[in-house]
Amino acid sequence: MDIVKAKGLMTALKNMGVDQYIGAEEDRPTLDGLKAAAMTCTRCDLARTRKTVVFGEGDPGADIVFIGEAPGEEEDNQGRPFVGRAGKLLDTLIERIGVKRGDVYICNVLKCRPPGNRDPEPYEAARCRDYLLGQIKIIRPRVICTLGRHAYNTLLEADAPITRIRGKMTTFQGIPLLPTYHPSYLLRSQGKIKEAWEDMETLKQYVR
Ligand code: URA
Repeated sequence: MDIVKAKGLMTALKNMGVDQYIGAEEDRPTLDGLKAAAMTCTRCDLARTRKTVVFGEGDPGADIVFIGEAPGEEEDNQGRPFVGRAGKLLDTLIERIGVKRGDVYICNVLKCRPPGNRDPEPYEAARCRDYLLGQIKIIRPRVICTLGRHAYNTLLEADAPITRIRGKMTTFQGIPLLPTYHPSYLLRSQGKIKEAWEDMETLKQYVR
């Protein structure tokens, strides 16, 4: 297509209000671009103690984004989210939805491991929040599933106990959001697994 025709097409699309969907590809933020920034991040002190940055992984066009708390030891070693014991349980939960791990996107509130797997400090979560919001904005999933209280409270800027919010559908920036238990908690409290399964049933309706 010559340049005059291409310009004409752009004007026509602009008039139809759909030009933002075809804007210059190179100008749009991408997961790779965001990851590149995160990999050298020094926004908080965890940059000094981490082995690797655990940005997140999965299908960039996923229907479901799972958000955990922070990488543990195994994740810090491998640079991948949820690869330890809790990760195996998360895999099982994902299978109950009827999809594979590679079909969803998995990330954490914090991209770096807190020493000794302590809880994220509020200032760490605040400094890391841009990466998480960027991931959600780029992927624009059909549903978000937060795992445990930290993911929910960070996204929604709340301070709710997990027992009050679990299983109650809400929204984040117009995207349906379902809070469920963290897999590490389920490993310790196996009586709760049935409720987590119910939550996976709820997620099924969002899978195309
Ligand atoms: N727990 C989390 O919250 N995230 C991981 O990646 C692993 C364990």
